[in-house]
Amino acid sequence: MASDGATWRNWGGNVEAHPAVVTDVATAEGVVGAVRTAAERGLGLRVAGTGHSFTPLVATDGVLLRIDGLRGVLGVDRERMRVRVAAGTPLHQLNPALQALGLALPNLGDIDRQTISGAVATGTHGTGVRLQGIAAAVCGLTLVLADGSVLRCSAEESPDVFEAARVGLGALGVVVEVELQCVPAFRLHARESGESFSAVLAGLHELADAHDHVDMHWFPHTDRVLLKRNDRVGPGEGPGPLPAWRRTLDDDLLANRLYEGVNRVLTRVPAATKRVNRLSANVLGAREFADDSWKVFCSSREVRFVESEYAVPRASVVPVLEELRAWFDRTGEPVPFPVEVRFIGADDVWLSTAYERDNAYVAVHQYHRMDPRRLFAAFEAIVAEHDGRPHWGKVHTLGAERLRALYPRFDDYRAVRDRLDPGRLFTNAHVGHLLGD
Ligand SMILES: Cc1cc2nc3c(=O)[nH]c(=O)nc-3n(C[C@H](O)[C@H](O)[C@H](O)COP(=O)(O)OP(=O)(O)OC[C@H]3O[C@@H](n4cnc5c(N)ncnc54)[C@H](O)[C@@H]3O)c2cc1C
Repeated sequence: MASDGATWRNWGGNVEAHPAVVTDVATAEGVVGAVRTAAERGLGLRVAGTGHSFTPLVATDGVLLRIDGLRGVLGVDRERMRVRVAAGTPLHQLNPALQALGLALPNLGDIDRQTISGAVATGTHGTGVRLQGIAAAVCGLTLVLADGSVLRCSAEESPDVFEAARVGLGALGVVVEVELQCVPAFRLHARESGESFSAVLAGLHELADAHDHVDMHWFPHTDRVLLKRNDRVGPGEGPGPLPAWRRTLDDDLLANRLYEGVNRVLTRVPAATKRVNRLSANVLGAREFADDSWKVFCSSREVRFVESEYAVPRASVVPVLEELRAWFDRTGEPVPFPVEVRFIGADDVWLSTAYERDNAYVAVHQYHRMDPRRLFAAFEAIVAEHDGRPHWGKVHTLGAERLRALYPRFDDYRAVRDRLDPGRLFTNAHVGHLLGD
């Protein structure tokens, strides 16, 4: 299906595009046809996942390719615990499908709305010093290239394409199939509690090492954090799942509906932010439960925001947070959303933020109706001093020159791109800025 004259917006509402053509595909052959047609018409082509990136990666005035129809598990190798998945499969469908096979992804981010190909393309990650981001679980990809040919790549087949395409930014071709290395399905014991920010900072590294997954949410202008510690437990171990009423109260009512109302008020009365943050930090009470991994990792995020997130070397996380705290103290900037801190171990994916580096991730958010520019500019200046690598899907201003200095394999990635897409079919202004066109 193709339609003209549509407006496309991302989830955060900060990116809008007016593609000349919107094409929906449900098969790999459909993708080949769309790619050939775009090339013949001299139009650029960008793939849209679910639009959860805050950067203008998807925006195009050419062809916007929607892959919602490419869904489902296509094949399972039970012995090697590998699954082949259609690229447009959203994580909220993938996770229960894997569970039904007795499998799981080793680590996930904090929502499950994204497509698997979108999550992989930008280096989406969760938390855990001994674990990696989702792209590190990819063991094979099938792409439709700019000339309409289909290429399968893995560590053994076209390995340079594989290294480049795992976090590929949608600039090498259209991914139609993703092969994932899974682990046996597992349960997590979750412990969530309000703590003192200063006390947690003093022992942050010990904490990160002591638990499988540590996730901290610091409310600016307060000394309070919501600390989440998740650890793997065997079948039948740990407490039971959260009762449905508690999940509804915490996730639906407090974290979403009430929080939306509070943010709307703060948009009109920003001076109340400090007091409200103190209240928010105390409302989210302690809870402890155990459940299937994906049910613990992912929750629902209905209140719209915009976000910037940088990976910094683990050793830099406390200095970065101290500098951020000093900036909030100095400026009083009204930011109702918490600053999130996570950890991920090094991987070998060329454009992964964790390429050959153990990282901490610091993310700042602003409610979508409030101006994020001062916050993002100050944050970017702080992390620049610590070799911060920006999340490809979250707001940042870096271009090719700086990115080359941050990513040792940047020019190798560009060489693969020059070979696969010499005519620059899969690009837009943002991708050109990132890659130095
Ligand atoms: C509420 C919220 C929570 C989030 N939580 C996390 C988190 O916990 N951790 C984290 O790391 N990130 C997180 N993110 C960021 C998000 O995971 C990434 O931006 C991800 O890329 C979004 O996936 P998507 O399917 O929406 O892809 P889109 O944003 O639509 O696209 C992302 C990129 O992938 C490309 N692409 C998608 N599919 C294909 C394909 N088949 N072939 C070629 N290119 C393709 C697009 O062209 C684009 O370049 C969050 C975002 C939001 C809004």
